Amino acid sequence: MFGYHKSDAFDLEVKSMYDVIILGAGPAGLTASIYTSRAGLKTLLFTGPMWGGQLMLTREVENFPGFDKGILGPTLMEQIRKQAERFGSEIVYENASATDFTSKPFKITAGNRIYQTKTVIIATGASAKWLNLESETRLRGRGVSVCATCDAPFFRNKKVIVVGGGDTAMEEALFLSKVVAEVRVIHRRDKLRACKVLQDNVFANPKISFIWNSTVTEVLGKDRVEGVKLRNVVSAQESIHSCDAVFLAIGYTPNTEVFKGQIELDDNGYIKKRNETRTNIDGVFVAGDVADFRYRQAIAAAGSGCKAALDAEKYLIGT
Ligand code: NAP
Repeated sequence: MFGYHKSDAFDLEVKSMYDVIILGAGPAGLTASIYTSRAGLKTLLFTGPMWGGQLMLTREVENFPGFDKGILGPTLMEQIRKQAERFGSEIVYENASATDFTSKPFKITAGNRIYQTKTVIIATGASAKWLNLESETRLRGRGVSVCATCDAPFFRNKKVIVVGGGDTAMEEALFLSKVVAEVRVIHRRDKLRACKVLQDNVFANPKISFIWNSTVTEVLGKDRVEGVKLRNVVSAQESIHSCDAVFLAIGYTPNTEVFKGQIELDDNGYIKKRNETRTNIDGVFVAGDVADFRYRQAIAAAGSGCKAALDAEKYLIGT
């Protein structure tokens, strides 16, 4: 069973040594913990206060294999967590506040405790950026989405809006154009940030049109998205556009703040992978969106969690 470690002001160090500490409890971290604990490795999982990852913010998931009628994102994560519980992982519902990978055993600090471990699997994910509008939060999963791959089929032959001007926004617009009737891209400037090849593709696509120099100030609709209110940043003029969904693609932030200076990151702050799940630190492995801006799918994250667990196991037995 999961054990709960409560922070204790008088208890500054936990002496116990783990085989594996997994940081993050989305599909990648939970899958890794199923594999390591089932293999008999003493496993500790840090979930942070919001366990479950990005699927906790979605509703229907139709593309995770094994559910012929689809499944709600939070229900899916609950089931994966219960599966991990069966094999005896311990859990800490806190974020790690510091990591020390400079010597072995590695040390992870959370609250007033220091946890020691022979290996670490980093699966802290990436967070989609949001506009932080009240209406956007209220309509998440009801037409407001950060994942076209996940949600495009719900809007077949409908009108949708994509917000953003980078590579992700253009990829989302192109993907959506295969399914929906009309895609309008809202960008806050008059030039795209996306690479030339993606720009060429979107401009050549008759289903995709642009509204420039504009920001979304409100998502309209009571129980589902019905439109957006826009503000032109040059003229300050406001306008209303009807649509059935709003896809936000204004970037992702990999959750790597705590690892800065500890482990090799790329220019965008993602952890650099070597040979599948290894990092530049021997014994520290990585899984899921924290090292993957390309696929960003729960099933891909779960698969990489499995790989990281197997690699950690092999490392521990010295093969
Ligand atoms: P990004 O390059 O940071 O682009 C974010 C876009 O959203 C920008 O156009 C930005 O506008 C806009 N934006 C940011 N905050 C906003 C806000 N609050 N309101 C309205 N608009 C806002 O992010 P990304 O597209 O996710 O790409 C991240 C990295 O991954 C990039 O290095 C990209 O090249 C890479 N990537 C590569 C591929 C590929 O190779 N196929 C695919 C996806 C991503 P401004 O332009 O005005 O700043």
